[in-house]
Amino acid sequence: MPVSDFQAVLGLEVHAQLLTRTKIFCGCPTTFGGEPNTHVCPVCLGMPGVLPVLSGQVVEFAVLTGLALGCTIREKSVFARKNYFYPDLPKGYQISQYEAPICEGGGLTITVDGREKHVRLTRIHMEEDAGKNLHDVSADGSSGVDLNRAGVPLLEIVSEPDLRSADEAVEYLKALRSILLTLGVNDGNLEEGSFRCDANVSVMRKGATRYGTRAEIKNMNSFRHLRQAVEFEVRRQVELVEAGQPVVQETRLFDPDRGETRSMRSKEDAHDYRYFPEPDLPPVLVPAAQVARLRAALPELPRARAARYVAALGLPPGDAAILVADRATADFFDATVTLRGGGPEAARKAANWLNGEVARLVNETGLAAGAWRLTPAHLARVLELLDGGAISGAGAKAVVEEVFRSGADPAAVVQARGLAQVSDAGAIEAVVDRVLAAAPAEVERHRSGKKDLTGFFVGQVMKALKGQGNPAVVNALLKQKLGGG
Ligand code: ADP
Ligand code: MG
Ligand code: ZN
Repeated sequence: MPVSDFQAVLGLEVHAQLLTRTKIFCGCPTTFGGEPNTHVCPVCLGMPGVLPVLSGQVVEFAVLTGLALGCTIREKSVFARKNYFYPDLPKGYQISQYEAPICEGGGLTITVDGREKHVRLTRIHMEEDAGKNLHDVSADGSSGVDLNRAGVPLLEIVSEPDLRSADEAVEYLKALRSILLTLGVNDGNLEEGSFRCDANVSVMRKGATRYGTRAEIKNMNSFRHLRQAVEFEVRRQVELVEAGQPVVQETRLFDPDRGETRSMRSKEDAHDYRYFPEPDLPPVLVPAAQVARLRAALPELPRARAARYVAALGLPPGDAAILVADRATADFFDATVTLRGGGPEAARKAANWLNGEVARLVNETGLAAGAWRLTPAHLARVLELLDGGAISGAGAKAVVEEVFRSGADPAAVVQARGLAQVSDAGAIEAVVDRVLAAAPAEVERHRSGKKDLTGFFVGQVMKALKGQGNPAVVNALLKQKLGGG
């Protein structure tokens, strides 16, 4: 039976580190990296006798995220102990939320193949991150534990099993990431693991009403890996079902080198964790007034922003979607368009450059939008030079590339690299006249219609102008002089 007779069912659990300055239950810094075990104190080291104190900022970020995702905010939520042993978890339990999470319900809308789909959320809860095991850290091959990350605040965002394909899963993760980036609560860095995703995958025969047994896949640190892992896992499970074998509920690791998932351990059930309410922390109270204040502070969200770009600026939906994927890029776009006087034409050009040449440079350099040396003023200046005919399209590309890397002034780059384009009709006309006068035979053949020599003349004129003639002006003048070409 082929894969097409089966339906994939997916639910995602996303862990997002919050961009607070300090950890969730102590005053240690959340900064990534640092010498191992330097961002620690007795609380996050799990010493006996210490008490956690909840960061108010974590609660604000959780509520803000819940409101952006349409969740119900619990007035009173409760922390719980999730008990398990692991070397990077010094207390022997993780402080998380279980029965009464801070946010419930809600969801977000994605667009896949031009169709809108609403994906429901189950819950969002607050918890602390664990440390990191470091293997082969010394000459004798022994392992170490770095607790700098222990106690960094996380939001766990759990979706309902509403996703039906790898495409939908990837779109969901992208949409969620761009909302968190817009809120400024998370840095969206999949590679460094500050935005991570576990995918729960099952398959069922089309038309079936009961979901199959799921496997949970971890270790996907890019959108591409998520897609590969889901596609592999769906195929693996379909083959099992076809062979009449059971799918085992388990945790699997994605191996990016081999493009496959491997069994890691059998899956614990909730009762294995012996959850119970955290006795060291009082319930978290979120008064209605705080919710109202945060609701009023919500920024414009990516889908609303994209819709505005389409309706007010006439951008194609695909272009708008790319621009709003991260807030810094969308802000860059807005600033550039404003500098160019606003309106659909300025918007279309700014979008084309941002999604084209600039996106290419971003890919090449891996620089996030806030870190570019190119500013909106730079890009607006390049577009102005291009519109005024002072530089050619190719010249503009060269300028953008250099400014992106060096932050130099565009006009200075044009000057220094000799990219100025000759657009002055008088100067070009003199050259055209010279070229035509020097080639009477060709002019005659062209005029008599025996041969189309337009290309030859353009080439001669461009050569005389050292390649810097404005092609539109050169063509227009030649056409005029040669009589309709
Ligand atoms: P756990 O802590 O055991 O992982 P959670 O309730 O936190 O359980 O998360 C379960 C995740 O698995 C949710 O995202 C949910 O949508 C998804 N899920 C549940 N059942 C299935 C299924 N049969 N197939 C695919 N995904 C599922
Ligand atoms: Mg899970
Ligand atoms: Zn600490």
